[in-house]
Amino acid sequence: MSGRVHLVGAGPGDPGLLTARALELIAEADIILYDRLIPPSALDGARADAELLYVGKERGGPSVAQEQTEELMVSRAREGKTVVRLKGGDPFVFGRGGEEALTLRAAGIPFEVVPGVTAGVGASAYAGIPLTHRGLASAVALITGHEDPDKDEAASHWRALAAFPGTLVLYMGVRRLPDIAAALMAAGRPGSEPTAVVEGGTLPAQRTISATLETIAEAVRREAVNPPSITVIGPVAALAEELSWLPVRPLAGRSVAVTRARAQASGLARRLEALGARVVQAPVIRIRSLSEPDLPPLDLSPYDLICLTSANGVAALFERLEAAGGDARALAGAKVAAVGAATAAALSEHGIVADVVGESFVAESLVEALADVEVKRALVARAREARDVLPDALRARGVEVDVLALYETLVEPLPPLTLEAARQADYVTFTSSSTVRFFVQAAGGDAGLSPGTRIVSIGPVTSRTLREHGMEPHVEAARHDVDGIIEALLADVTSA
Ligand code: SAH
Repeated sequence: MSGRVHLVGAGPGDPGLLTARALELIAEADIILYDRLIPPSALDGARADAELLYVGKERGGPSVAQEQTEELMVSRAREGKTVVRLKGGDPFVFGRGGEEALTLRAAGIPFEVVPGVTAGVGASAYAGIPLTHRGLASAVALITGHEDPDKDEAASHWRALAAFPGTLVLYMGVRRLPDIAAALMAAGRPGSEPTAVVEGGTLPAQRTISATLETIAEAVRREAVNPPSITVIGPVAALAEELSWLPVRPLAGRSVAVTRARAQASGLARRLEALGARVVQAPVIRIRSLSEPDLPPLDLSPYDLICLTSANGVAALFERLEAAGGDARALAGAKVAAVGAATAAALSEHGIVADVVGESFVAESLVEALADVEVKRALVARAREARDVLPDALRARGVEVDVLALYETLVEPLPPLTLEAARQADYVTFTSSSTVRFFVQAAGGDAGLSPGTRIVSIGPVTSRTLREHGMEPHVEAARHDVDGIIEALLADVTSA
């Protein structure tokens, strides 16, 4: 029997604007075909075994052809799968949802349409612009700015829109805005009409640029406005000044590059976004587990101390244990020690409360914390290429130490646009020595950060590595974890 396709709107960006039905379907889907403009965390609730396929456009890059996306929807549904086609905003507003529905109907595949908050409505609301308002506007037009205003038939289109008695909301039009504003004015729309551009509406870094139809093009150029943005033209646009209600967030308008591995980056990225920063995800590290299927099961019984030095190590250890049918009980006979709170938190997700936790994330802190713990034989489970501080210190106390390399870190090449965005960011964060080394490697041997970019280091070890690579950290966290990074960044922003 054929599966079903759900054409689902994900709203304009704030995850809170996903509908209850959208969340329900995301959680059920066998396969999710998603676009670039969906909320960053929209896929968090997907099943672990769901197939997640990006079918959107890279800015300036190629996109998966529409026909290909539609073919995929049809073929997966024919396999009996539950397909979610997840789009930014509303699927039937400039979302090609209509075309997809027609294809599905022609193929005889049942479908459902889940509306979403469209960007024009969502971004306006978050900017404090009521699209209709008694006495100011009693009609709204949603318009695509894709049409070239210089084309003949388009000229008449813009003439008609200039005469529209109500608010104009332009989608996809930031690049064409100068031409569009000119065409509207040439057709009689007053240059003095209030006009607002809302950039990244409902997203953490939302900005509103207010001007008039005559001055908006210059304002947008001056403020370097980026997509996604909508433009609201009409007297209601002036209400933003009085009705804007989003609190100004401390990192608003700042871009921050996050270089740590994608799997670990989301915590830091989300905190930064919640503070208003525009996050450039530039993961230069990939974690590769070293457990091979034919390794003998891990025997932890000889040890009275097991040391974990990172959350990655915890994940890799449990992967290895579980692959052999084992579980947390393998650690029952030993004391468990963790370097840093994040490692301890990863352990507690597996039901293990660490006996000893080194306060900061450097190995030295654990050496100190272990000073009074009696140990005969210890296992240090960690990355292949880690420092030997902990094993050496334990051996110096006469402890028999085995080192188990559980994973290795590999360089992840950055797409040129991402690298450039990271190099131009207001801040670049380095959360370990390997993020420094791999960033330099991913950048082709020279980090090439722009002179205005401020370098944020998680602590002294990372700072040393930065200096070895010719970079002087501007900010060093006093606490060597995500909280510490955030604290240091906020302090730097307020002192600047
Ligand atoms: N189906 C979508 C629109 C897709 S077209 C919807 O209903 O919202 C893409 C355009 O939508 C962008 O070029 C931009 O104009 C607008 N857009 C999408 N997300 C936006 C956001 N968060 N803030 C402002 N405009 C946004």
